[in-house]
Amino acid sequence: VAGLLGYTCYVIYLDRHPAEQKARDPNKKTLVILGTGWASVSLLKKLDTENYNVVVVSPRNYFLFTPLLPSCTTGTIEHRSIMEPIRSILRHKRASVQYYEAEASSVDPDRKVVKITDNSEVKGATVETEIPYDMLVVGVGAENATFGIPGVREHSCFLKEIGDAQHIRKKIMDCVETAAFKDQSNEEVNRLMHMVVVGGGPTGVEFAGELQDFFEEDIKKLVPEISPRFKVTLIEALPNVLPSFSKQLIDYTENTFREEKIDIMTKTMVKNVTKDTVEAEITKPDGSKELIVIPYGLLVWATGNAVRPVVRDLMAKIPAQKDSRRGLAVNPYLVVQGTRDIWAIGDCAVAGYAPTAQVAAQEGNFLAHLFNTMARTEAQEARIQELSSNLNLVQGGTPPAEAAQEIEALERQLKKIRNVKPFRYTHQGSLAYIGSEKAVADVSWWNGNLATGGSLTYLFWRSAYLSMCFSTRNRVLVLLDWLKSKAFGRDISR
Ligand code: NAD
Repeated sequence: VAGLLGYTCYVIYLDRHPAEQKARDPNKKTLVILGTGWASVSLLKKLDTENYNVVVVSPRNYFLFTPLLPSCTTGTIEHRSIMEPIRSILRHKRASVQYYEAEASSVDPDRKVVKITDNSEVKGATVETEIPYDMLVVGVGAENATFGIPGVREHSCFLKEIGDAQHIRKKIMDCVETAAFKDQSNEEVNRLMHMVVVGGGPTGVEFAGELQDFFEEDIKKLVPEISPRFKVTLIEALPNVLPSFSKQLIDYTENTFREEKIDIMTKTMVKNVTKDTVEAEITKPDGSKELIVIPYGLLVWATGNAVRPVVRDLMAKIPAQKDSRRGLAVNPYLVVQGTRDIWAIGDCAVAGYAPTAQVAAQEGNFLAHLFNTMARTEAQEARIQELSSNLNLVQGGTPPAEAAQEIEALERQLKKIRNVKPFRYTHQGSLAYIGSEKAVADVSWWNGNLATGGSLTYLFWRSAYLSMCFSTRNRVLVLLDWLKSKAFGRDISR
């Protein structure tokens, strides 16, 4: 606690007022960064903003710590605890950064402009304008994949943004209160109390675990009359959940879910969604297929990522991108293939890695290092140019030895800094919460891998996520939320 207090005081002491920041220099190159997610914010954190005229565009004026988003759906954590306003992040930079709350709707790589759109509630109108760039970083992430399955967009909840978590939280309680309402038929109570999660990746698994905890720890006590009817079903098209984890952890998760009474339906592909049912095709052990209809009260759709329209539009304008399907194909320096001045990072980039927060953060850090180095290189080159032309001016006499020496030293330094190695991702491991105070972890440990699951892993999961939170403020708020929900139960008000 003393350490935390000390650190908080230190951060407050370091606080920089926007007026103390260096003004932007329009003579410098304009670097436009699209997005405020893991990739873009990691880039901004390490970027020396004095080197460029930096402009950030994103419709979301905060960074969201997505690993704890499933905990917001049940009120274990309050949503503001995992949000950090982008303007608080930017005010810590040495030179000021321009931020526009707007959506990038298209990029014109020939004219080097980004079209941005602001759906202003105050104005009650959509405002469109263009921003020119010298260098562009696309870090807009991805949208929810629906695979064109009918009814998904209309009837299910996603779990990507804060609004999604708030919507799910309200909908859970709507199902509970409606099921507890006077004179509901048995069939209707069963439907309302059936929570279906589609997609057995980490998002679906973590949400199913959180939901079961919520019922066991809170709803059972507060609304006991309907709690025996509560059921969570996790539907996955593949033969097992958590395909990216080791076999041992997949088995551990599936066994834990069985103990928690979460139904897992594997080899089951959802084909259609209606207002209150899911139609799915099960592949039986003999290979035959059966179509079943599952009534639900809440449906959460967590089947991974799809390309955003702005990215698809940009890909269509670059001939070298014609074979890329999952996003902007980039070279080892994260430059978008077929361009010289556009970089892509995070879930919208195809660099050969899974679309995770860890990859996005490392790509952002790499790009900050690359841009800082490029700026230093350009400054050194300009200085060499200046010294060389001074030397050439000295005619007839002996050239000043210091200038010649400085050129030599600068050229030696340049050689070193020009040698930036291409981006390489270092996997530090995967973590997932699976409910009833248990977690699974596939961690890279010195030379080997450690696969572990259970209550100790849960403590590790908690401390790892706490340390990864964006700011001290976030860390304190998350810690308090955990303590609060443990001591007083989760807040079930809608
Ligand atoms: P995912 O892509 O990891 O999993 C989606 C699952 O949905 C797949 O297993 C797929 O087989 C299944 N699916 C697709 N269509 C289906 C259908 N019609 N019916 C039934 N099942 C269907 O998605 P995610 O969990 O959202 O994760 C996205 C990315 O983010 C992944 O790379 C993941 O590793 C990462 N992530 C990691 C963590 C963590 O490490 N804790 C947490 C969240 C997300």
